[in-house]
Amino acid sequence: MKKKKNMKRVYIFIAIVILIIINVTVAVILITNDKKKKPKNNEVITTTTKVAKTTTTESTATTTSSTTSKTTTTTKAGEKVNYGNVLEPTGEKIVIGRSSKGYEIYQIKGITYVDGYLIANKTYGLPEDYNPGALNSTVKSAAAKMFEAAKNEIGKNMWAQSGFRSYSTQKNLYTRYANRDGKEKADTYSARPGYSEHQSGLAFDVCATNKPCITSGFNDTEEAKWLADNAYKYGFILRYVKDKSNETGYKYESWHFRYVGTELAEKLYNNGDWITMEDYFGITSEYQD
Ligand SMILES: [Zn+2]
Repeated sequence: MKKKKNMKRVYIFIAIVILIIINVTVAVILITNDKKKKPKNNEVITTTTKVAKTTTTESTATTTSSTTSKTTTTTKAGEKVNYGNVLEPTGEKIVIGRSSKGYEIYQIKGITYVDGYLIANKTYGLPEDYNPGALNSTVKSAAAKMFEAAKNEIGKNMWAQSGFRSYSTQKNLYTRYANRDGKEKADTYSARPGYSEHQSGLAFDVCATNKPCITSGFNDTEEAKWLADNAYKYGFILRYVKDKSNETGYKYESWHFRYVGTELAEKLYNNGDWITMEDYFGITSEYQD
């Protein structure tokens, strides 16, 4: 009887030892696989060298890192796509249509242009792997001049709070808003991934000292008024004009500015009665689904 009981204990002990060995083996296999996977990951690698202040405001809030970062963009196949300077596109031109105002709509390396101007709206998205990693350098220096002028003319401090946003950052942002407010509402103030002008590296949101930031509270500030009256002199346009969401696809955003150069900016400024890019070129801004 006693011997039998002892044998039972031995069996239980052996069973426990076997279970421990199995567990340890599985753990080792999992860890090894994980380590092997890492070097294979050749998706977009972004190294951000400076992260700016982030803000969370009402419905239109956007949180982003600022403009100084370096990026290596690699395709899934491992071959690098060189998108070049999007302000001076080079490469094979593929015509995809003609606008209602007679402009040719074409793509170079998957980026849509009209009359040499990059278009990023609800109709024309950007390639997922197009990732300049920062604001375009021309845009950055034009913005610096504009903010310097604002400081000199009205004594206000302004800066580009939210500049370049990658496809994946936009994906996180849009998903968060869509989960909170539903897709339909989110679409009125936030772009779906691949459709944000912020991904182009040509647009940014302006904030000012002690003023509501990236929210409708900025609309009636002295700063917003100055920007709407002067941005064109530095090559920027008020992109989402008041009461023209049927053209742009977005609500009025007094803080979102897009670089197009002074020539087109002055035309769109239209002596203070801003014309949208969509109206000027005769293009739509609507999702296909
Ligand atoms: Zn914006």
